[in-house]
Amino acid sequence: MGAFLQALVTKLAEELMKLLLGWLAPRVLRSVPHPAPPDCPRCGGYGVARWAPRRATTVFVLGVIVFGWGFTATVLGVPVVVLLVAVGVRTAWAGDPAAALPALAAPLGLAVSGALMLAGAAAMAWYHSFPPRLCRRCHGRWPRRDRAEYLRMVRSVVFACRCGQRLRAPGRPPGVRVRCPRCGAEQAAPTVAARVTRVPFRSRKR
Ligand SMILES: [Zn+2]
Ligand SMILES: [Zn+2]
Repeated sequence: MGAFLQALVTKLAEELMKLLLGWLAPRVLRSVPHPAPPDCPRCGGYGVARWAPRRATTVFVLGVIVFGWGFTATVLGVPVVVLLVAVGVRTAWAGDPAAALPALAAPLGLAVSGALMLAGAAAMAWYHSFPPRLCRRCHGRWPRRDRAEYLRMVRSVVFACRCGQRLRAPGRPPGVRVRCPRCGAEQAAPTVAARVTRVPFRSRKR
């Protein structure tokens, strides 16, 4: 009976960890500002291989390792830190605040692991600013010759005129004035920061 309960608890903890990873990791990755949409232009999944120079690929691999490290340390560290702080508070309450200091400083460790996680995510975000090459999830492929077209699309801002006409303007410099071909009204394009993330960009083959 005891062995069964132990196996059940281990299995439950494992499943909980998996759920947490599947839910938290993509949110952390997307919370870092991306210079270009990080998602697959075809299926919307995260993690499309890019036409990136070798140094960006190296930074990406390092970023994945650092992110994995920081992420695991943060997820595993939260319960440990909560426990340590509880012990520290109890020690301080019992009248020995000096002895409680190391335990009360435990959240600083979480700050370090959190910073590592964000640094890794930022490195991955930079890699994702290069044009897409292939998606392992939906098998979408984008040839080398489409790189310039992708960058032009990513760097432009799509917005609607008051008359409903969809307009496209270069994102740099921000706030460029464009004239609507339908109603003739002239207006400033919104800045790149206000742009929606996903860019429809067709894949050449499956
Ligand atoms: Zn895809
Ligand atoms: Zn218009």
